[in-house]
Amino acid sequence: MGCGVCGAGPAAPVTVRGHQGMIVIMRSLKRQGVFCRSCALSVFREMQAETLITGWWGLLSVVITPVVLLTNLGALSGIKRIPAPVTPGWRPPLDPGKPVFQRPEGVAVLIPLGLLGMVVTLVTALLLGLFPGLSDTRPNLTTGSCARNDGSWTEPDLKTVPCDSDEAQYRVMFPGDHGCEDGDYLASPYDSADGIGRCLRPIR
Ligand SMILES: [Zn+2]
Repeated sequence: MGCGVCGAGPAAPVTVRGHQGMIVIMRSLKRQGVFCRSCALSVFREMQAETLITGWWGLLSVVITPVVLLTNLGALSGIKRIPAPVTPGWRPPLDPGKPVFQRPEGVAVLIPLGLLGMVVTLVTALLLGLFPGLSDTRPNLTTGSCARNDGSWTEPDLKTVPCDSDEAQYRVMFPGDHGCEDGDYLASPYDSADGIGRCLRPIR
């Protein structure tokens, strides 16, 4: 069985997929055939490089493209197991060219991916900054519960503890009309789910 492109052998059945996103519509590409190692590598690299550039441009395509790229990596490991051609074909095999990441397409795709990574990092940092509750290190102080402070009062590390435990240092009180009483500490509004800063009354 010779290569379907050049006739050289040995050759093996190979399937390489591609994807093109076009905002709303998209197109799936597939090249299937019996290829020698050189021709298969050439088909793989061409398809992979093209998908890296044209794949991402659509809502579904963003999800489909990495799947296609990964599936092709599976095909590549099969391609690499085809021995180099020994019986010549009727024409020279396709030139495999450079590996994908040594091509302009492979380098170009790192730019949008890098930008995407930066945007995700920025948005995450912004959300955590705007809504400290999301970082989930805040206690949820509720009236009547007990708390302790393992930090200082300039940099508190409050957590809720059972009132009957030795760890309890403060009872959490709802602020009165005039705020907290003398001797109380005022907890940050962020330390309560309802956003109302509670008074921390030392337990004696
Ligand atoms: Zn071939």
